[in-house]
Amino acid sequence: MASLLPQLVNVLVVSTDVSDAVVTVRARTRSGVPEGCTGCGQPSAWCHSRYVRRLADVTLGGRPLRIELSVRRLYCENPTCPKVTFAEQVPGLTVRYQRRTPQLQRLVEAVGVVLAGRGGARMLRVLNVTLSRCTVPSWSTARHR
Ligand SMILES: [Zn+2]
Repeated sequence: MASLLPQLVNVLVVSTDVSDAVVTVRARTRSGVPEGCTGCGQPSAWCHSRYVRRLADVTLGGRPLRIELSVRRLYCENPTCPKVTFAEQVPGLTVRYQRRTPQLQRLVEAVGVVLAGRGGARMLRVLNVTLSRCTVPSWSTARHR
């Protein structure tokens, strides 16, 4: 699994479901592992709650890959930090406020740079990545890393 899906190496895979249309992987982050606060950086493993993030990933065997990832909301234990709680992020898999994995985001941005607008949306459809025309970044707005 780790060599096939290296983006899942830092999480625990709970189940996988393959249908004709989509591959769904359910996974969770490990409990008890400290994560740095997004406000002050101080590590905390004090769990407030869990919630499921639904992430779109690159295709697997021609099918869109969906990752349903249970992540923790943690308390920040630093009394001077303005954040009371923060959501943990998984390097290589989640980005704050982003519903795409970094791999899919890179693909969408690359297609947006090469084929702006409608052509890009059409190309992503060929690649089995479904999104609307307005979500394909245009040449001027695509971020380069
Ligand atoms: Zn903090």
